[in-house]
Amino acid sequence: MCGVDEGRDGRKRPAGEGAWVRAFRERYGLPGLVDVHTHFMPERVLRKVWAYFDAVGPTTGLAWPITYREEEDRRVELLREFGVVRFTSMLYPHKAGMARWLNGWAADFAARVPDCLHTATFFPEEGVAGYVREAVEGGAVVFKAHLQVGAYDPDDPLLEPVWGLLAEAGVPIVIHCGSGPAPGRHTGPEPIARVLGRHPGLRLMVAHMGMPEYGDFLDLAERYPEVRLDTTMAFTDFAERLAPFPVEERGRLRDLGGRILLGSDFPNIPYGYPHQLEALERLELGPDWLRAVCYGNGAGLFGLTSA
Ligand SMILES: [Zn+2]
Repeated sequence: MCGVDEGRDGRKRPAGEGAWVRAFRERYGLPGLVDVHTHFMPERVLRKVWAYFDAVGPTTGLAWPITYREEEDRRVELLREFGVVRFTSMLYPHKAGMARWLNGWAADFAARVPDCLHTATFFPEEGVAGYVREAVEGGAVVFKAHLQVGAYDPDDPLLEPVWGLLAEAGVPIVIHCGSGPAPGRHTGPEPIARVLGRHPGLRLMVAHMGMPEYGDFLDLAERYPEVRLDTTMAFTDFAERLAPFPVEERGRLRDLGGRILLGSDFPNIPYGYPHQLEALERLELGPDWLRAVCYGNGAGLFGLTSA
């Protein structure tokens, strides 16, 4: 890619990303992309998230420059330029008393940005079953749970009715339960496996392929037919340096192709959007696998009849 585009913040990035993604879609005959893991949230929350990533570099030596530090309307426009026909507004509370407010914002966002799937979240707190039910009745089609940031046990009794309700409604939950980039008290396969033991029909979508516990989360997907994994950041140069996907798991990755969905973490990524697609393509799992992961699986799960 040659030339540079200048973002509104004056940061430069390679031009031609839209063209690259268009060529990728044409290569595989994709009517569009379905990206199940993108972040849109209230402006002041997003600023805090960006400040967190800005601070990560100096303290850990792991630079995490946010590539798409743009105004909200521009971020939506960029996804449309990439041909993303459905995306999400993954948001998540780090403490009690936030989730209901975030859900109100996400419902409003989905109403004004119709290609964004109506997203919701929760936290183990009084009233959680009530506002989760409200969100589902209000049209939420996907939830986000973040066990590392929220620092809660998914097996918390307060969440028991929530899992029951979401399993019954068949609403997918993108859940950050792997121990990357840093482990939490309740991350790793065991806590969430306990929940699945009681709610085997839960439509959990394990974020980041469960990085770095890839094999354990593939085990869960093999055991529970409604468990899926999102590709967010996995297989990229950035992730491969920190937590490489084991070569010996490639076969299972291919076999579970019907339950792996494109996720990107846009806009909070330290590289351009095309790199996630390039990272999937270079796995060499074939065009059918790529079509399922980048479009078909998400289109099926969220009932898209056409692009
Ligand atoms: Zn994310």
